[in-house]
Amino acid sequence: MLPYFTTHFGNAASRAHAYGWSAESAVELARETIASYIGAADPKELVFTSGATESNNLAIKGVAESLGSRGKHIVTTAIEHKSVIDSCRHVERQGFEVSYVAVGSDGIVDPGAINEALRDDTILVSVMLVNNEVGTVQPLQEIGAITRDRGILLHSDAVQGLGKTPFDVESMNVDLASVTAHKIYGPKGCGALYVRKKNPRVRLIAQVDGGGHERGLRSGTLNVPAIAGFGKSVELLCEEGPRENERLASLRDQLEAGIVSSLEGVTINGSTSHRHPGNSNLSFEGVTSDSLMMAIKEIAVSSGAACSSASLEPSYVLRAMGVPEHLAKASIRFGIGRGNTSDEIGRAGRIVIRAVQTLREQLAGSLAADG
Ligand SMILES: *Cc1c(COP(=O)(O)O)cnc(C)c1O
Repeated sequence: MLPYFTTHFGNAASRAHAYGWSAESAVELARETIASYIGAADPKELVFTSGATESNNLAIKGVAESLGSRGKHIVTTAIEHKSVIDSCRHVERQGFEVSYVAVGSDGIVDPGAINEALRDDTILVSVMLVNNEVGTVQPLQEIGAITRDRGILLHSDAVQGLGKTPFDVESMNVDLASVTAHKIYGPKGCGALYVRKKNPRVRLIAQVDGGGHERGLRSGTLNVPAIAGFGKSVELLCEEGPRENERLASLRDQLEAGIVSSLEGVTINGSTSHRHPGNSNLSFEGVTSDSLMMAIKEIAVSSGAACSSASLEPSYVLRAMGVPEHLAKASIRFGIGRGNTSDEIGRAGRIVIRAVQTLREQLAGSLAADG
């Protein structure tokens, strides 16, 4: 990224001089790298945005505006990221109907339930690749076969799955896909939307108007250094992905085994067989997420989604999975990543175990005092 801040500081849209060309070639290299990684037929199918929130907004509102005359029904799931749910709420206020398909207690949506929700006026299905709270991998391949058969567009918020589980827009029949750089160690504030150009050609109404950048789908000067960094982070995913995922899964298993063998009343939320390798969402009976997080401040964890950790509401994802309220309010999400070592995982496990034991003893003490 650094050269594009300092020496190659041109505007990628400036076609008349060398500064612009070197910026443009960095952007086009990133576009090719990312497009080929997700199996896009043409790099031009990738539209750079400010992140997946914007990509999800563009996909849902853009399709709704473009195809609203053909139908006013959208199908999604109850466990999507806020930026999908709230974009759906937005189009509902404009007269669309949205079906939020339930998930099983394992945090996975049944393709049959998606199929049943489809109507003659359904124009779009939006299902995430991997859930951001419980890490569950959704059956996109099966859903893509259904939507393609019915001639309905399929959008996927693929943010959490990129590099963690197979994702290929061609074989999965995905027509729109949102990705973001900062979930794969790239810079924050840079993402993309894949928009299929052929079989079928997806028509979208832009949500940002202006100079007509990015095939007219997203006006605004591109963030060249961030895009170069996004491309590089995908390149590193290609090199390290499979080996790193095995390493993460073994650290995750180490963490869970350590905690579960020392503490009673711990449940793993979501499927353990179809899961992001670095995700562990655990509920600890008898404690609250907030008090536990306060007690383990040296470990960076979250309750629910990182973006909604300011809210005290229990996770809507866990609620949709039927997790009882007291356990949803006692859940912590551990994210294991690139820099983590087995020593750190061992230490984190010991800190969590000690904190849960202390909190439970305090609770028992206060109950005894009350009694
Ligand atoms: C983080 C995240 C987003 C939002 O991405 P930003 O680039 O932060 O806007 C969307 N969907 C999922 C599943 C995410 O995890």
